[in-house]
Amino acid sequence: MIPSIQETSPVQAQYLAFINALKACGFEGDLNPDYANRTVLSTDNSIYQVLPQGVIYPRNIDDLIRVTELSNTKGFRDIVLSPRGGGTGTNGQSLTDGLIIDTSKYMNKILEINPTERWVRVQSGVVKDQLNAALKPHGLFFAPELSTSNRATIGGMINTDASGQGSCLYGKTRDHVLSLTTVFLDGSQWTSYVMDEETFKATASRQDRVGELHRVVNDIQKEHHEAIEAKFPKLNRCLTGYDLAHIRTSEGQFDLNSVLCGSEGTLGFIAEAKLNLLPIPKCSALVNVQYANFNAALRDATELMKAGPTSIETIDSKVLNLAMNDIVWHTVAEFFDTGDQENKPEVQGINLVEYTADSEDELKDKVQRLTDQLNALNGEGASIGYSVAWGSASVGKIWAMRKKAVGLLGNAKGEARPIPFVEDTAVPPENLADFILEFRELLDSKNLAYGMFGHVDAGVLHVRPAIDMKDPQQETLIRELSDKVADLTYKYNGLLWGEHGKGLRSEYALNFFGDLYPQLQRIKATCDPRNQLNPGKIATPKASIELIKVDEATTRGQEDRKIPVQVWDAYSEGMYCNGNGACFNWNPNDAMCPSWKGTRQRVHSPKGRASLIREWLKQLSERGINPVSESQQLQQRSFLGSLPSRAKNTWSRAQGEYDFSNEVMDSMSACLACKSCVGQCPIKVDVPEFRSKFLELYYGRYLRPLKDYFIGGLEHFIPTLAKVAWLYNGLIKPKFMQAIMARTAGMVDSPPLSGVDIEKAAASLGVDYATPQRIAALSDEAKQQTVIMVQDAFTSYFDTQVVLDTLQLLKKLGFNPLLSPFKANGKPLHVHGFLKQFKNTASQTAAFLNSLSNTGIPLIGIEPSMTLAYRSEYQKVLGDQAPKVALIQEWLAQHTEALQQQSDKFAPGEFKLLAHCTEKTNAAASMQDWKAIFSALGQTFSQEATGCCGMSGTYGHEAKNVATSKHIYQLSWGEIVKKRENQGKLMATGYSCRSQVKREDEIQLPHPLQVLLQQSK
Ligand SMILES: Cc1cc2nc3c(=O)[nH]c(=O)nc-3n(C[C@H](O)[C@H](O)[C@H](O)COP(=O)(O)OP(=O)(O)OC[C@H]3O[C@@H](n4cnc5c(N)ncnc54)[C@H](O)[C@@H]3O)c2cc1C
Ligand code: SF4
Ligand code: SF4
Repeated sequence: MIPSIQETSPVQAQYLAFINALKACGFEGDLNPDYANRTVLSTDNSIYQVLPQGVIYPRNIDDLIRVTELSNTKGFRDIVLSPRGGGTGTNGQSLTDGLIIDTSKYMNKILEINPTERWVRVQSGVVKDQLNAALKPHGLFFAPELSTSNRATIGGMINTDASGQGSCLYGKTRDHVLSLTTVFLDGSQWTSYVMDEETFKATASRQDRVGELHRVVNDIQKEHHEAIEAKFPKLNRCLTGYDLAHIRTSEGQFDLNSVLCGSEGTLGFIAEAKLNLLPIPKCSALVNVQYANFNAALRDATELMKAGPTSIETIDSKVLNLAMNDIVWHTVAEFFDTGDQENKPEVQGINLVEYTADSEDELKDKVQRLTDQLNALNGEGASIGYSVAWGSASVGKIWAMRKKAVGLLGNAKGEARPIPFVEDTAVPPENLADFILEFRELLDSKNLAYGMFGHVDAGVLHVRPAIDMKDPQQETLIRELSDKVADLTYKYNGLLWGEHGKGLRSEYALNFFGDLYPQLQRIKATCDPRNQLNPGKIATPKASIELIKVDEATTRGQEDRKIPVQVWDAYSEGMYCNGNGACFNWNPNDAMCPSWKGTRQRVHSPKGRASLIREWLKQLSERGINPVSESQQLQQRSFLGSLPSRAKNTWSRAQGEYDFSNEVMDSMSACLACKSCVGQCPIKVDVPEFRSKFLELYYGRYLRPLKDYFIGGLEHFIPTLAKVAWLYNGLIKPKFMQAIMARTAGMVDSPPLSGVDIEKAAASLGVDYATPQRIAALSDEAKQQTVIMVQDAFTSYFDTQVVLDTLQLLKKLGFNPLLSPFKANGKPLHVHGFLKQFKNTASQTAAFLNSLSNTGIPLIGIEPSMTLAYRSEYQKVLGDQAPKVALIQEWLAQHTEALQQQSDKFAPGEFKLLAHCTEKTNAAASMQDWKAIFSALGQTFSQEATGCCGMSGTYGHEAKNVATSKHIYQLSWGEIVKKRENQGKLMATGYSCRSQVKREDEIQLPHPLQVLLQQSK
């Protein structure tokens, strides 16, 4: 039995007192000094892991004022505060051992859009894609782009002066900031904007921090403009972090925002911003130019620039290959011909050249300039081929693939994985190829693997060398390589900090700025004299205080190496999360991750769960506990033998005894086990897999709730229950019974059994149960047309008509369907961590299904998540013995020719698929299969982009989840289902999804095969 984990790193008394004082002075947001929140926010995408004392989620600007005012009072003047947005930084810039102030949870409102004057006012926690989605109906967009646009906040973008693809045309975030509302550390609030001289003088004469800051910044500009001019490079990615070079605009006006943008939370809290907007270009196209050599791709960029593109992005073969093995490839494969034709060399680098225009003709002219340039070379140029993707939908898909590239790098095999520490260099574009040549020589001399991609037009290349930070020897490379790469950027007139900011790489600023560094310190000292705000980054307030060095902060590797290799390997599905934050995807119509979207709590995200399981394993390991052998012992132990101790532990828990495992449990139990993380996380973090291992051990220590036995055992007792469906249905129907069920079993809205005897009903359609004898009796010709439908408990017993309609359709299409006798699949057991029972069930069911498939007849399943369990959960416990069961559309799509021949028997119609999350994220290619099937039968088909329906198996039926389940439904499905234009067109593959729509909107959505049956004449 695992021990309770009572001692973790305690919150320092002063910080607890601060949090209590905040509560007392009316703080309206959330105050979280719990270990789970601290653990989850101890990382960003960097190599570092720094445990904060607590996490604070302000609800509004008044909360920020409360925090800052309190930090300025006696007893709290050395409290450290670090602002945080999406937490996607690559250099530890939002990490702190003080308090994190996260604005993303509540301060995420779009306050005002002015389409006429083309500006928007937002709170700082608004996500960039959220903003652009709101602006789209007005034909406008916020132009600065970054790969993390679906989770990075405007506050984070402003504070890192973010930029990315398209920066040569659109510039950086700073270029689009009209005004900033900042809360300074003394509690004062100020809205800064470009000022004329009169306003500047009036402001600078104020006798407060605002006045002082304006005076100091102006003096620095006046006194040091020559040194500034000489020091600041004239790059597209001009130097961020107190940008002294732009204090005065080209018209000579004073602009405090040049200093605030890129200040990485070291000067104040940005609460609101007014941003400049641009019209969305009407047309776009992307020329994808291929090279046999990556260096040739880099060198060619300057040539390509002559054809006047909007942007040029580059990726190397390593990144390209990783993309090819990811779900994202299905969306872009058609645009890439990667060289398997005869004699064409393998593609080692690609330049993605984008063009935008306000008319199709203008766009065609622009693209033609480039293609003429490429064609004229007649195979003699640097490139080996190109293709063109036309239209914003196609271009958007390719950019989404490029945006995912960096995350995919973290999915390289092995322990040495590409990590960010020298990934943000910028040099003048004309120096890029030579710079990279030397950079590669350096990495090659250390035998390091690496992947490269970036904004070649701006001279910014992201290089992530693969290092196993758990190995202390390899860890020393961080210092050595950082020093050498910093020197190299210097040699090529570039910067170590291209667009990601300085963070824990600020120490190189000392050397870079030389005599100017004290001027940065003057600015810091004016805003933050006691070094309370995100200290150790960019600049310190006085000479005696040093910046944090690259090898000074704790790294993840140092923490991870405390977990023994055997345990690390056994939980590998959660260990490699690198914090890139793709699971915080804002888009409500994207499957990733419903529990995060439904709660907006980072502990309830894949990253949150991966961070917690790592910490939990570390805590157990430090106590000499090996969870792998614990699991083995548990599976031998008798249920009754451990009952008294589990009852005692459960009682102690109820009395409030602390155990970190309970915090981990809170996070795990809110997971819907939808598996979107498995399909969509670039690292393939598989929460349901490690969650079930955790649940097994957790319930080895505590008593399980009754509902777990009910859900886990459902498949086993349902055939018996179905025989008395009338009794069961009669019992669960009355309201008072539902209330009793909710209170005792923790289950609500339990659906009634269909009460149909499926064997008899199938027989009446002329469909037999599949047995080896029946199959043996089939002629060879009949076998060709035969398929075995594997039953699942949910569709067969609760939604029997779907099975019957499917069988009927298959017969109409000329197939000979057989029905496999019902066997428990075991997925509910897996989901709830009954791992021993799952293994037993899986072994028995696999043996049976294999006996059927050994006859050579294909097996198909209709319920996506149950069917996919045969190739994932089964595969993990049974390996090659896992039965091969295709999703029904995967099998049917192999027969499209035969379907086409029957299309005249179907009336045409137009339909929209609401796919099941597990299916669309874990079997993405099968979405195309639905399209092929519907098209073959003369139907107009489209797939509707949706998030999760909120039901996910039995999640939405569990009393404690009902409110979140309903909320998740309303985030995406609710609106789509209710839309007038969708009436009669929607169909859903998932049993859970159909029952959720029925529960929430009283609409019975059909399965796609029911739709086809209904269209048949
Ligand atoms: C996979 C990947 C790809 C990336 N690609 C790009 C790219 O293409 N271009 C690019 O520019 N960056 C890129 N980045 C870096 C990162 O996404 C950006 O720096 C982004 O702007 C950070 O936004 P955030 O909301 O996550 O901020 P955080 O990481 O939370 O914070 C960033 C900094 O801003 C400060 N901050 C945040 N909010 C506030 C506030 N309200 N007030 C004061 N200070 C605040 C924090 O203290 C911190 O110093 C990438 C990162 C990853 C992981
Ligand atoms: S779980 Fe995946 S997507 Fe989320 S932060 Fe970790 S690696 Fe990134
Ligand atoms: S399984 Fe679904 S709910 Fe659970 S962490 Fe993964 S994406 Fe989130």
